[in-house]
Amino acid sequence: MNHTLIAGASIVICMDDAQSELVATDIRVKDGVISEIGPGLKPDGAGIVNAAGCVVTPGLVNTHHHLYQTLTRAVPAGQDALLFGWLKTLYPIWARMTPADIHLATLCGLGELALSGCSTSSDHLYLFPNGTRLDDTIAAAAVVGMRFHPTRGSMSIGESGGGLPPDQLVEDEAAILDDCIRVIDAFHDPNPGAMVRVGIAPCSPFSVSRELMRDAAILARDKGVRLHTHLAENDEDVAYSLENFGCRPGQYAEDLGWTGSDVWHAHCVKLDAGEIDLFARTRTGVAHCPCSNCRLGSGIAPVRAMRDAGVPVGLGVDGSASNDRAWLIDEARQTLLLQRVENGADAMAAREALWIATRGGAEVLGRDDIGQIAVGKRADLALWDVGGLESAGSWDPAVLVLAGPRMVRDLFVEGRRIVAEGRLATVDAPTLADRASQAVVRLVDE
Ligand SMILES: [Zn+2]
Repeated sequence: MNHTLIAGASIVICMDDAQSELVATDIRVKDGVISEIGPGLKPDGAGIVNAAGCVVTPGLVNTHHHLYQTLTRAVPAGQDALLFGWLKTLYPIWARMTPADIHLATLCGLGELALSGCSTSSDHLYLFPNGTRLDDTIAAAAVVGMRFHPTRGSMSIGESGGGLPPDQLVEDEAAILDDCIRVIDAFHDPNPGAMVRVGIAPCSPFSVSRELMRDAAILARDKGVRLHTHLAENDEDVAYSLENFGCRPGQYAEDLGWTGSDVWHAHCVKLDAGEIDLFARTRTGVAHCPCSNCRLGSGIAPVRAMRDAGVPVGLGVDGSASNDRAWLIDEARQTLLLQRVENGADAMAAREALWIATRGGAEVLGRDDIGQIAVGKRADLALWDVGGLESAGSWDPAVLVLAGPRMVRDLFVEGRRIVAEGRLATVDAPTLADRASQAVVRLVDE
């Protein structure tokens, strides 16, 4: 039996419905589940992890990523390009990647996320070069020990059909739907505590047909899985929708079945008031990716307005080629900063930003078993050592988003300690970084 006692935490930020913050508290974890919370718990044979001097939060939840891009960070020709030009630079490089590259990129990306406090990540893999399959990323997540929501992405309109990607990276639409069924049947686990849940995720409205968007929604509902795509990322994106579909992105999504509590869209920087109302009424979720939006100059998403209206909002790091780092706690801080730039210093509290990073993300992924610290919830826990210089002088060490460590000391996922004393426990980080460097040399040369 997996039995751990996290003992003597300075502060436990529960992110429960009462928004409890407990001092000098122990947390008992049995078989992946939080079984007891309180002061002075008896060991009863548990392995003890001393959490004195630590703030404990739920593991953070990443709702948008393209893990394969971890091997194409800071590509010179893409460093200063706008979204569409950036994509055109990177497509030929991505087309050279192998299944082993994508497995390695996923290991590196998830390892980085874990160190930044993330215990659950989604992934949006929408190109499958040289025999790559969604299976390659799922295998990597199991090695790292991350809770994983891979989505089976797709592109079907290549350059010859008026789309953006080169023809060699697009797939036949019937084959896309067949493979969605295959990976759902093979890997999707609808049960509480699931370590893998699969979603369906055509890349964007400008890289697949109207028919595929509609059929993907029908298939997702038939299979009981979630839908994900990019929407209203920037002005070019909205202009494309108006010109090619004769409507705004929100209308396009609604017409094709892409609204509802089982749908989440990445970015949504350019949603207007009507679209925010549509998302709130239908409980359609948003993956807010503030660093990516800044990096690509896309704009500031109306997160304050979305939250006030009742739209479920979580955070995403987005692909490492457009961020270029995947450091999830930083996205919470960036969310707060951008909302204050737009709406004033009282527009978002630090505790709200951390809520979005945990409970918000869990809701966006359709999970009520993670994102909070409460008896019966899964034991996904981040321990932040507030004894260092980053927290020195802080009057409120619980507000990690304002002052505090950016790296976890320990991270538990389903009760398993995958970061211990600031180091990844399941993979060897220096070895991974070395292999990534070698892969980049090969991708540049080819
Ligand atoms: Zn993205």
